[in-house]
Amino acid sequence: AKDAGKDRWRRYESSLHSAVVERHKLRADLDRAIADGAFLLHFQPIVGIGDGRTHGFEALVRWNHPTRGMVSPAEFISVAEESGLIVPLGAWVLRNAVEAAAQWRLLHPGEDVYVSVNVSARQFRGQFKGPEQSFARWVLDEIDRMGLPPASLLVEMTESLLLHDDGEVTAELAELRAAGVRIAIDDFGTGFSSLSYLRRLPVDVLKLDKSFIDTIASSAEQHAVVDMIVQLAAILQLQIVAEGIETEAERDLLVAMGCHLGQGYLFSRPLSYGDASQWLLEEAS
Ligand code: C2E
Ligand code: CA
Ligand code: CA
Ligand code: CA
Repeated sequence: AKDAGKDRWRRYESSLHSAVVERHKLRADLDRAIADGAFLLHFQPIVGIGDGRTHGFEALVRWNHPTRGMVSPAEFISVAEESGLIVPLGAWVLRNAVEAAAQWRLLHPGEDVYVSVNVSARQFRGQFKGPEQSFARWVLDEIDRMGLPPASLLVEMTESLLLHDDGEVTAELAELRAAGVRIAIDDFGTGFSSLSYLRRLPVDVLKLDKSFIDTIASSAEQHAVVDMIVQLAAILQLQIVAEGIETEAERDLLVAMGCHLGQGYLFSRPLSYGDASQWLLEEAS
C-alpha cells in the first residue's frame, strides 16, 4: 500500500512536470509564431438578433501551430499574458483587425460595421513606439493611420481587469472613449459584478456571458437575472451584446426582453477574413 501511494505521487509529480514542460514548450513556440506568421484572425458576426443584420465582427485570434494544428486561444492567451508576449501579439491582433474593418468599409461604403477587439491588462503596460507613448495613444494612431473612424472600434476588456485597476487603465480607456472608441466589458456577469461600479467606469457595452444565455430557456431564475441586467443596462444607457446564442428559444427570449444585439453559433461561427467579407457581400445583395 505504501508503494502504491509512492507510485501515485510519482505519477502526480510527473504529470505536473509534463504540464510545466508543456507550457514551457508552448511558450517557446509562441515566441517564434509571430515572426513565422502563424497567427490569423477569425471574425464572428455580431448581429441584430431580431433581424439578423450585421453590426460588427469580433476578432478572435487563431494559432496555426506547425505540428499541433489549430491551437485554441483558450490554451495560449494565458501563456502569452504570463510571458509578456501578449504585448506584441495584442498589437498584431489590433492592427490586423483594424485593417480588416477599414477594408470592409471600402468594400461596403453603406454599412459601417465595427470591429471588436479583445485586450488584456498587460497590454496597457507594454511599450509601444516609445517609452512615453500610452496604449491609448498607440491605438488612436493605428486607427488614424488606417483611416478607420474611432466609432468603428470596440475594445473588449474583462471585468476583473477593471476591478483590479489602480486607475491607470481606466484613465486610458477614458482617453480612448473621449476620442470616440467604444469600450465593452467582456464576459459580463462572471466576475464580481457589483452593478454599482458600472456607473463609474468608462464603458459603453456589456457583453453578457454565454453562461447566462445557456440557462435562460431552462431556468426561470436565470431568466429573471438576465431580464434584470437588460433593464439595468437600459437605465445606465449601456448596450448589451448577448454572447453564445445557440438556439432560437434563447434568441426569442432575448428579443422579448429587449436585448437587441448578439452573437453565437445560431447566427454564425467565427469566419475567416474571406468568409466574413463574403458574409457582408451576401447581406448587401
Ligand atoms: P471570448 O472573448 O468570450 O470570445 C467568445 C468565444 O466564444 C470565442 O471562442 C467564440 O468562438 C466562442 N463562441 C461564440 N459563439 C459561441 C456559441 O454560440 N457557442 C459556443 N460554445 N462558443 C461560442 P474562442 O475564439 O475560442 O476564444 C476564446 C477566448 O480567447 C475569448 O473568449 C477571449 O477571451 C480569448 N481571445 C481570443 N482572441 C483574443 C485576442 O486577440 N486577445 C485576447 N487578449 N484574448 C483573446
Ligand atoms: Ca470577447
Ligand atoms: Ca466573452
Ligand atoms: Ca446555449
